[in-house]
Amino acid sequence: MNDDFTKKIFITMDIDWACDAVLADTLDLIDELMIPVTIFVTHPTMLLDRMRNNPLISLGIHPNFNPLLCGRSEKDYRIVLDEIKAIVPEAICARSHGLIDSTSILLAFFALGIHSDLNLFIPFSAGIPMVPFEHFSGIVRVPYFYEDDAFCLEKKTQTPEEHVLSSDGGIKVFNFHPIHLFLNTEKIDRYIDARAFNQDIQTLKTFVNSDPVNGARAFLKRIVKCAKENGFTFDQVETL
Ligand SMILES: [Zn+2]
Repeated sequence: MNDDFTKKIFITMDIDWACDAVLADTLDLIDELMIPVTIFVTHPTMLLDRMRNNPLISLGIHPNFNPLLCGRSEKDYRIVLDEIKAIVPEAICARSHGLIDSTSILLAFFALGIHSDLNLFIPFSAGIPMVPFEHFSGIVRVPYFYEDDAFCLEKKTQTPEEHVLSSDGGIKVFNFHPIHLFLNTEKIDRYIDARAFNQDIQTLKTFVNSDPVNGARAFLKRIVKCAKENGFTFDQVETL
């Protein structure tokens, strides 16, 4: 495991079944910002080739075990994993949708050739510096400290600059979703109101938060600006 992550920022994204227009908006943003990212895939899309052909992007898997928990599916969790790994066979990194986690899941990840997982979310506001560690399953567990939708629900939040410049010695891993980058979500009600139109790009545009300072898209842009001004570089979590 490479533990030299000082002065590094790691950006990840869960696509969560975003429609292609919303996902394309995120891919355009990555090209604009020129930052490496790891994208966790939920479904087949015609944009997979565009992502694979972009050296800034590496792909992980984002398996959805929620239907199993809710009794909407009797599928074995290993079948869920086989199906998503078939879409992204090159993936060596995983995060479960909804962060659903267990020893069995970690062992199954490892058996499928996954090297690291990002199912451990501890917000920066918790004040707990975090480092990746090797789990007995063989998986490297990479904790992360920012998630765009969870950020909207926190009582006490810190700015993007505080996240970047924190000197607590912890790793700095951020997670975004294309829909929140598109909407520039700053409050969860914006997303809830827009959700019914998640396949309708024209209507979705009417829900966009235009505030250039506060919102998920603004947060990412401020991370990049602050990081570049302060000598940080961006890297992909697969390098850990
Ligand atoms: Zn998800």
